[in-house]
Amino acid sequence: MNLRTIKEADLKNKKVIMRVDFNVPLKNGEVKDDTRIRAALPSIEYILNQSGSSLIVMSHLGRPKGTKNLDYSMAPVGKRFEELLGKKVKIAKDVIGAEVEKDVSSLKPGEVLLLENVRFYPDEEENNPDFAKKLASYADVYVNDAFGTAHRAHASTEGIAHFLPSYAGFLIEKEIHFLAPLIENPEKPFVSIIGGAKVSSKITVLESLLRTSSTVVIGGGMSYTFLKVLGYKIGNSLVEDEFLKTAESFLEKAKKQNVNVILPSDHVCAKNFSEDAEPVKIDDINIPDGLIGMDIGPKTVNNIINCLKAAKSVVWNGPMGVFEFDNFSKGTESVAKALASINAVTVVGGGDSVSAINKFGLSSKISHVSTGGGASLEFLEGKTLPGIQILTK
Ligand code: ADP
Ligand code: MG
Repeated sequence: MNLRTIKEADLKNKKVIMRVDFNVPLKNGEVKDDTRIRAALPSIEYILNQSGSSLIVMSHLGRPKGTKNLDYSMAPVGKRFEELLGKKVKIAKDVIGAEVEKDVSSLKPGEVLLLENVRFYPDEEENNPDFAKKLASYADVYVNDAFGTAHRAHASTEGIAHFLPSYAGFLIEKEIHFLAPLIENPEKPFVSIIGGAKVSSKITVLESLLRTSSTVVIGGGMSYTFLKVLGYKIGNSLVEDEFLKTAESFLEKAKKQNVNVILPSDHVCAKNFSEDAEPVKIDDINIPDGLIGMDIGPKTVNNIINCLKAAKSVVWNGPMGVFEFDNFSKGTESVAKALASINAVTVVGGGDSVSAINKFGLSSKISHVSTGGGASLEFLEGKTLPGIQILTK
């Protein structure tokens, strides 16, 4: 995939408008986690270091549903952004309108203006071309660094790029650098570890990764549907009966393509699905009646670790068990630790998998922890992300 990146852009004496993902969690009017703001700083600082440039930054925050609801104002985000940047950030009172136009036209070289929440207008999510054109009229160059919303064709992520020279920021560049090889030509052996709750939400990514994987590991709640179709007993574990056929044909395809599949061969179970349920170790692939599979067992963990030892690249999406409950987090933790310790390109994506990696304090030992939940999943599914597509050569 050939991206146009800001390194190729002539930004000297230019007004730059940049889409970022400042959709951060707030608590009592303050930013609770500023990771996403920090993630955009390298691109922002690079742009501001070009002589004579000025910068207009825009983002969405929460779901104001196309109305100007000040509960979703960017103002508190702007305050934190200003602190992190160490430089004055002017905060606009709106996204469009006479007052914003004045803010924009009086913006001097070196200055930064943060627009209000782009989702205050329904035109944003409808990708209204007039709205996109209006945003484009503020600047000479467009930069997108909001990977987390790149799977949506919105006015600020896609529409605007039709009206301006447009480039990817460093964050998007890094995401593509790590994600694209996984579905194109990963270094082999390539191991895909897919878990999480449901076959239905993961079958497309499984099918996609099957084309490039040497081994596919299937864990978590979705593995019991696969075990059931193979004729094993799964007790009261999570199962999607309407996906038994899908699971079966996936396993047949893997066999035909000579892809090794690792499924759980032992389990940690519980009588009921709760945080304080007593963990019951089952040293067998079959789960007795009355028990729920909550986590993979130690034998399965060892299988996975052995296969990871030889791996040159690994992608992991979806926890191996109910990792939110301490009694059932061991499988996920062990796999995460193995991932952190091997000498391979390791990529982790997906909301819960990323929070598992953070919970175990391992993110610095992973080659790339993706910042996009839905966006990284759709990318790995082989789908075209409109916000990325428009930035390619
Ligand atoms: P991600 O956000 O990383 O893509 P998912 O959303 O697909 O992951 O899945 C995460 C959820 O799957 C977690 O909430 C976890 O508790 C649940 N899960 C994992 N294993 C099981 C299981 N054996 N039974 C029920 N739920 C499970
Ligand atoms: Mg999730």
